[in-house]
Amino acid sequence: MIIPANGCAGSPFVPCTCASHPGEDGVARAARPSRRGFITTMATGAAAALAGSAVGLALAVPARAQSTLTPEAALARLMEGNRRYVEGRLTSFDEDLSILKQKTAAKQEPFAAVLSCADSRVPVEIAFDQSIGHLFVTRVAGNVTTPEITASLEFGTLVLGAKVIMVLGHSACGAVKATIDAKPVPGQISVLYAPIRAAVDEAGADLEAAIKANARHQATILSRASPVLAGLVRDNKLRIVAAYYDLATGKVSLLG
Ligand SMILES: [Zn+2]
Repeated sequence: MIIPANGCAGSPFVPCTCASHPGEDGVARAARPSRRGFITTMATGAAAALAGSAVGLALAVPARAQSTLTPEAALARLMEGNRRYVEGRLTSFDEDLSILKQKTAAKQEPFAAVLSCADSRVPVEIAFDQSIGHLFVTRVAGNVTTPEITASLEFGTLVLGAKVIMVLGHSACGAVKATIDAKPVPGQISVLYAPIRAAVDEAGADLEAAIKANARHQATILSRASPVLAGLVRDNKLRIVAAYYDLATGKVSLLG
């Protein structure tokens, strides 16, 4: 299959998830059909007519190739979503799933990419209050950089247009703890030790410090191992940042 340079083949999906701000179509979220509103409509028996008008409104969004956000704006949108998550003010669940699926079936234009641990307690889209089509997420235990991860993130940024890559470590990461412990483990689990080893060597047995060092290391490795990513960063088309997710609070903190 030939992938077009802009990675898309259809009309786009409205990116704004904020309840009070208009999307790039100029239509405030409050004026758009919400998922909850859609369900209510179904219950009133007027579903067919209103569902049709809802689809029509979404189709009116002008087409574009990639996210037009700057890397700084993309990072700000991520952090704003995490703030809503921490404060229990999620807006992404108000979006109409049927419209989201329709608008993203043939194309995607994520504004951000995240390299996260596979840990089940780190729900990436929810933690940033984002719905379908907004985040390009790669996950592997220990949020380590591998050739496959790098290739995926090259695709998510160069082709799909994500403007920021966040390497997201998290508290109580088992992969980092196992690397510190360095005990024999079954199967191929120990394969994870090698890419995390440098962070443990730097931070010692302090788990939180090692987790943060690992996120920083993997972010650095990404930009150094990939001329594609390094070029995007050099051209101010991409930022690569490291961050730390606190399991207890849900708060994401950027690591300097
Ligand atoms: Zn983990």
